[in-house]
Amino acid sequence: MGAFFAVMETSLRVALKDEEFIVFYQPKYNVVSNTLIGVEALVRWGHSSMGIVSPARFIPLAEETGLIVKLDRWIMQEAMRTCAAWYAEGLNPGVLSLNLSLKQLEQSDFIDVLMKTMQEQGFKSQWLELEITESQVMKNPDKSIRMLQDIHALGIGLSIDDFGTGYSSLAYLKRLPVDTLKIDQSFVRDIPHDEDDSAIVHAIIALAHSLTLEVIAEGVETLEQRDFLVAHGCTCIQGYLTGRPQSATQIEALLKNGR
Ligand code: C2E
Ligand code: MG
Ligand code: MG
Repeated sequence: MGAFFAVMETSLRVALKDEEFIVFYQPKYNVVSNTLIGVEALVRWGHSSMGIVSPARFIPLAEETGLIVKLDRWIMQEAMRTCAAWYAEGLNPGVLSLNLSLKQLEQSDFIDVLMKTMQEQGFKSQWLELEITESQVMKNPDKSIRMLQDIHALGIGLSIDDFGTGYSSLAYLKRLPVDTLKIDQSFVRDIPHDEDDSAIVHAIIALAHSLTLEVIAEGVETLEQRDFLVAHGCTCIQGYLTGRPQSATQIEALLKNGR
């Protein structure tokens, strides 16, 4: 096990140096107004012999070894460069969402790096949203609130990823400067057939509305799931039903030609 991790860590370092990572983008839609509201950057590892490797297989190791800081900075730069080029061409990808590790947020120079990258890439703060998972926020909520407030003050959107899986305290939720709750796909999977999941999804939507937050569902694969969500007031959707994570070239074609 130890040897395996050492080998993986070395190949992750080499991959970063050789830029073997690829940023995919998954569209997010408002299915009632039928508009693209944004794209989420999702990293893949284009491995020379293993092919495309899913982030679920290397993000945990990157977090453990601290390599995530460098990796996420590279992704930030790459995704901002790509989206700024789309905007410059007159295309409208909506808001770019970046997944952010708590480790990244904890770097004392994070805001400086963020602002410098935006400036270098000609990327505007209103085009950006950061996603942080509920479990990461709740590891150190007081500290997270302070850091997220600084980011929010720059006009950058914040959303809580995997919402419902991380034991949020409602008192903290009220104090967090977030704009959006993302309903975790584990709850979406079995709606409308599973009564418990349906009740949970309904409750999260009601909670978001009463805290005047936006709400989006992830992992939406079927029309039935979409219809349930819309009927309960969640009109923003991300999932295989409306679009898989795709290469920048594929997204560009979508922006030019529509769906
Ligand atoms: P996440 O941010 O919650 O992303 C949603 C995951 O669900 C993505 O998996 C996406 O491909 C997948 N997905 C989207 N629609 C559907 C669907 O309809 N059905 C199903 N079954 N799955 C769907 P992916 O790309 O494998 O990413 C997994 C996780 O890895 C992400 O979860 C995120 O936590 C992390 N991750 C991905 N990219 C980055 C990154 O650039 N930085 C950091 N720190 N973490 C990342
Ligand atoms: Mg996410
Ligand atoms: Mg998620």
